[in-house]
Amino acid sequence: MTDCLFCKIVAGKIPANEVYRDDDVVAFRDISPQAPKHLLIIPTEHVATLNDFDQAHQMVLGKMLLTAQKLAKAEGFADSGYRTVINCNQDGGQTVYHTHMHVLGGRAMKWPPG
Ligand code: AMP
Ligand code: ZN
Repeated sequence: MTDCLFCKIVAGKIPANEVYRDDDVVAFRDISPQAPKHLLIIPTEHVATLNDFDQAHQMVLGKMLLTAQKLAKAEGFADSGYRTVINCNQDGGQTVYHTHMHVLGGRAMKWPPG
């Protein structure tokens, strides 16, 4: 999808502070971090919202979570803890319509979220 910001990051057309990449997912630091550690993990395939995944995406959805775990361990905040969030559509607070998983760590998170 040529007009999508995160597809442009996947394609390397706009820069991002990347921390991980393979054929299925890319992870990079959020440009406006909401915690000392704030990563985004995206599928390399353009899928606009969580509603648009189907059975064929089961592997990549699992891989996004396993990548969160791997990066949290690599960056040293797995044991202290972290939060994974996928915002979906307007009420979920989604602003970029290429599905992404937030990984937030490095401080205690509040619950419930706003
Ligand atoms: P959401 O509100 O769940 O759609 O989250 C979108 C996230 O993308 C926000 O946390 C933004 O700060 C982040 N973001 C937007 N543009 C960029 C960018 N160019 N590089 C990294 N993160 C970005
Ligand atoms: Zn996209």
